[in-house]
Amino acid sequence: MNNIKKLPDNLINQIAAGEVIERPSSALKELVENSIDADASEISIYLTNGGKDLIEVIDNGKGMNLQDLNMCLERHATSKINDGDLMHINSLGFRGEALPSIGSIANLCIESFDKLKNEAWKISIIDKKKNVEPSIIRFGTKVTITNLFLKVPARLKFMKTNGTEIRYCKEVIKHLAMSHPKITFNLTVDGKKIFYWEKSDIASFEGTKKRLSQVMGEDFIHSSVSVAIERDGLILAGMVGMPTLNRNTGREQYLFVNNRPVRDRNLIGALRGAYKGLIENNRFPVAVLFLDVISDDVDINVHPAKAEVRFRDSAKVRSIIVSGVRKSLESAGLNTATEISNALIDRMSFNTKDINEPSSNLNLKNINISPSSRFTDNFDNDSFDQQRTYPLGSAIAQAHGTYIISENENGLLLIDQHAAHERIVLEKIRSGFLNSNIQKQILLIPEVVELSEDHFEVIIDQKDNLIKLGLLIEEFDKNTIIIREHPAILDKVDFHILVKDIAEEIINFGSEFILSERLDNICGNMACHSSVRAGRLLLTSEMNALLREMEATPNSSQCNHGRPTFIKLSVKDIEKLFGRT
Ligand code: ADP
Ligand code: MG
Repeated sequence: MNNIKKLPDNLINQIAAGEVIERPSSALKELVENSIDADASEISIYLTNGGKDLIEVIDNGKGMNLQDLNMCLERHATSKINDGDLMHINSLGFRGEALPSIGSIANLCIESFDKLKNEAWKISIIDKKKNVEPSIIRFGTKVTITNLFLKVPARLKFMKTNGTEIRYCKEVIKHLAMSHPKITFNLTVDGKKIFYWEKSDIASFEGTKKRLSQVMGEDFIHSSVSVAIERDGLILAGMVGMPTLNRNTGREQYLFVNNRPVRDRNLIGALRGAYKGLIENNRFPVAVLFLDVISDDVDINVHPAKAEVRFRDSAKVRSIIVSGVRKSLESAGLNTATEISNALIDRMSFNTKDINEPSSNLNLKNINISPSSRFTDNFDNDSFDQQRTYPLGSAIAQAHGTYIISENENGLLLIDQHAAHERIVLEKIRSGFLNSNIQKQILLIPEVVELSEDHFEVIIDQKDNLIKLGLLIEEFDKNTIIIREHPAILDKVDFHILVKDIAEEIINFGSEFILSERLDNICGNMACHSSVRAGRLLLTSEMNALLREMEATPNSSQCNHGRPTFIKLSVKDIEKLFGRT
């Protein structure tokens, strides 16, 4: 007797659905992808009760005839693979699994218009019963899913609140909308219109940019820089947020490979690498990146929901992302996220009600120019009017021994002197290392530093590398080193702490420590230990020198932890605060 039996079709479909359809948003993704593959230029989406009661997608795509309509519910039936070649797929779908899977766990109804015959048909699977009848639709395809997971109620227990499920659905639409700016998307939830993103026919990246402003908001466009680089057969394009636009999760990192949304650890890691030293380790940049790879170099068939891909040469991919994004960030110059000054204005804006309330945001007692602020020291009116034309303006005061207040032609700036100096030092050492021209200073009295055995070992091992960073170290005695030279830009360094931090960095990285890969961290360590500490009084001339250095330093609008080094307040903003406009 046969113990092993083939599973019935319905069970096979349910098993497939278990992989592909995890929640309403995954079903929605399959439907919208089908509409995109059908060349629709407008897609309307309706969701009810978190998508559990209704997911409906209506498109104006090419539609299906009656024969195809019957066929599309068969397992592994697809119109998207013509020559049996999985390596050259231009459509989003290709597995022919989505519709039969959905049909096995929910009530499904598909109506489609057959242009050739000028007729429309409706096929439905309600409670496992298939039914075909004429339909009245006059364009494209309408797919309706009701009672998702009706037939696998266990799944329903894993559903989150309606709000969360709708958020997942919106994420799916956002991804697909960003990569398809020539399609209009609109979403209605529980009868309420949520968005209408009109298509744009602009062919260049400007079309994508317009879509990104619809999806991500105008602020993202103002707080990010464009990336466009082509190398080794790879093309990378997109927009990445300035480091000061950072989040506590990676949710706003939208990555695409050959226009297919993916969540790929390699790509996410590379993006993190590009922001190394520009933002704190537990913060995440905001980015939208499109990577184009010739299809021979990428396998898209490695994940049931097609969310991951495999690259033939992932090092090459990593490298173009790290260097492409980094280069764009460096070109951003002195821009910081507009979000920051907007948030500041929101905090400072108050109405009469606030004034009468003791909890008002604006506590005048806190705005206090310390006696150290000198409007007069070294003050030279002529040089003030020159300096004012610089982007970071002319220093007018130092407050609390920590912040420089400066004025330029557009308004006022508040600069965090410690954070700014830290960035300047870091970039100087970094570029000195990369261009082999670091300026060194000989110590008149060499520093003797005693280390633990572990630290001693790794420091001596990396001695030749550390010279390239300006640190000339020699073995002195058991577990003891002497430092003879240091980078000239480092000022009053505590070498004991610095060398221990560097040693820890090397140990943490493990046996394959490569200085160039940890450059930002090591330079960051150096910068951190020597920067103009908060609390140090500066002369006006020193303040201006710092501002001019910032202007000449890449990435100087944020410190190496991703916090802004300065905040701008335009005259317009100030007028707004005082209710003058
Ligand atoms: P796949 O997309 O992987 O081919 P699906 O199960 O999602 O598998 O769809 C099966 C087939 O049904 C598709 O290959 C396509 O021919 C057809 N189809 C599905 N949705 C639509 C649609 N909205 N418009 C036109 N054809 C569609
Ligand atoms: Mg599909």
